[in-house]
Amino acid sequence: MSELFRLFYPTEYVSGISEITPEWLFARGARGVVFDIDNTVVPQDAPADEAAKRYFARLHEAGIKTFVVSNNAEPRVKAFAEAVGCGYCHKAQKPSRKGYLAAIRGMHLKRREVVVVGDQLFTDIWGANRSRIRSVLVSPVEPKKDTFGVSLKRPFEKLIFRIWKRRQKNS
Ligand SMILES: [Mg+2]
Repeated sequence: MSELFRLFYPTEYVSGISEITPEWLFARGARGVVFDIDNTVVPQDAPADEAAKRYFARLHEAGIKTFVVSNNAEPRVKAFAEAVGCGYCHKAQKPSRKGYLAAIRGMHLKRREVVVVGDQLFTDIWGANRSRIRSVLVSPVEPKKDTFGVSLKRPFEKLIFRIWKRRQKNS
């Protein structure tokens, strides 16, 4: 039964991006990070705040490359990417691979040097698995601000997450 859900399993889970520090990334051999934006870095449709700008600056200063890949529309994604100083792919249609492949090309890195960070198993994580890139699941920044479509998927994601966590413990 649980094998059925393998497509949606992240490589790792952390509660939020603040745990993903340059040291954390270097320990995993990662030199680039592909971020989802909405509910991963900031709440749904919220602009890049000072904390987000500082966070990206800290990664860049450490020599970590960044890229944002979002299913949201260009004005939102472009404004965010410009505010934090990274490349972007909008309307990425995750779980499509196209945004992740564009990110790898844009950062001039290899798959194994990159991790994907996102809050949704059925888009961010599935897309990373399809692209054969490691993934880090984070808890949504503000689940109450999910779009209606996303809120419908959350119970299923929670179920799969629980199964994944149990497997982690047993392995
Ligand atoms: Mg998201």
